Amino acid sequence: APTIWWVRRDMRLTDNPALCAAIDRGGPVIPVFLLDEVHDGYGALPRWRMGLGAEALAEALEERGSRLVLRRGDALSCLRALVRETGARGVVWTVLVDPDAKARDSAVRAGLEEDGTEVVRKTGHVLFDPWTVETKTGGCYRVYTPFWRAVKDRDLDAPLPAPGKIPAPDTWPDSALVADWGLERPMRRGADVVRPHLTVGERAAQGRLGAFMAQRVDDYAAARDIPSQTGTSLLSENLTLGEISARTCWHAGLEALRQGKAGAETFLKELVWRDFAHHLAYHTPQLTSGNWRPEWDAFPWNTDADHPHVRAWLQGRTGIRFVDAAMRELYVTGYMHNRGRMIVGSYLCKHLMSHWKIGLRWFADTLRDWDPASNAMGWQWVAGSGPDATPYFRVFNPVTQLDKFDKNRGYEGRWIAEGRARPDPLALAYFDAVPAAWGLTAQDRYPDPVVTPEDGRRRALDAYENRTF
Ligand code: FAD
Repeated sequence: APTIWWVRRDMRLTDNPALCAAIDRGGPVIPVFLLDEVHDGYGALPRWRMGLGAEALAEALEERGSRLVLRRGDALSCLRALVRETGARGVVWTVLVDPDAKARDSAVRAGLEEDGTEVVRKTGHVLFDPWTVETKTGGCYRVYTPFWRAVKDRDLDAPLPAPGKIPAPDTWPDSALVADWGLERPMRRGADVVRPHLTVGERAAQGRLGAFMAQRVDDYAAARDIPSQTGTSLLSENLTLGEISARTCWHAGLEALRQGKAGAETFLKELVWRDFAHHLAYHTPQLTSGNWRPEWDAFPWNTDADHPHVRAWLQGRTGIRFVDAAMRELYVTGYMHNRGRMIVGSYLCKHLMSHWKIGLRWFADTLRDWDPASNAMGWQWVAGSGPDATPYFRVFNPVTQLDKFDKNRGYEGRWIAEGRARPDPLALAYFDAVPAAWGLTAQDRYPDPVVTPEDGRRRALDAYENRTF
């Protein structure tokens, strides 16, 4: 009897334990991707990017005589219908630990098992399953460094090869087309601008890892902090959809370490930050929904997403060059350098005293690498409300940060057009990407700061000192 492989954030054939388990069951395998209630609720760019990932996976499957069946609707109903239509006896998937996926999956599992359909769950989205990492007293980790120490010397099996053959059924169930879902529509004009900046699919992801290991890992420890350079791997876009496995990246990092490449350990540590985010989301699901430290509920955050300061922030018009450059990078490429994420986050939560959830939602709508756990951990870190967070009173100065991390102003120059005789094409692309209703042009005067670093810092620290907790 056929087995359904329910594809979610594991859009790859190499090192995919769920796919291998489906094949090992002996019958035909029916790969299925659903635009279900969870995926349909994603922000505009992640939802569209997921559709592009599904198309790339469909192509890879077709090269091996298989297909990807696409359906839209609530996950349990879609899977039940497919089981009925195909006579499948089992459904296999890769375990996810973010709260929305977890809730969906347990309901789907209960429903399928009630019908007598076997459910097989395999791990593989993260390096170290969150339930296998415990402190000496038996709880979860809340601080990164001890978490890193607890996992860094663990042996991980070598990645599984891609299966040579994926047995196909005699007849395929009906399938929708990604193009019919209109996922690019909420992106408005942005889709055309962002598309060339995306690196979609498993083969491209492997190419990215190979290029990073061949050319950049040696300098990674220092170059990773300079946003004008391509010093990092850029793999987050692919890792979040599982177009490459974290384990594949881990083994490549270990190999670089054995070869004495200087940045290799830093790279492994960054991969473990991703695991740490999933560890926190699994053990303390409030990470993704509210202040991890509930005392922050009493802080006088601005929660109005239409506040003029917030609008200036999300339009890249705060008058603070590092902040605006990073917000425009995000809008044009769907990516923002990690240094930029920290600075725009700090400016929003501290200088503008606006709730981190406003930033979290904007990122969830615009990031090509959006990940429910890493995004929430990042925002709670920036705001000071998270477990292993930067203290609120440590306020980044976005002007001196520019002197430190963008000395020659390469980043600022690339992204800000106003006031320049010959702006960079990327800076101009920003004006093509933003909604016409924003009324922005490259000829506008560059704004004065909506809140200066000094005023913002003073106001944030006053509020912090007068807090009631
Ligand atoms: P590299 O420097 O090459 O690192 C390799 C991999 O390690 C990354 O691909 C990523 O999977 C992981 N990693 C690195 N840093 C972190 C980190 N701080 N937290 C978790 N994983 C990390 N990352 C996301 O993948 N999705 C998000 O939605 C996301 N939102 C963020 C929001 C904020 C406010 C902040 C401060 C950080 C956020 N990050 C997020 C983490 C980080 O900025 C990105 O993972 C990184 O910039 C991706 O670029 P890269 O692949 O070149 O990273």
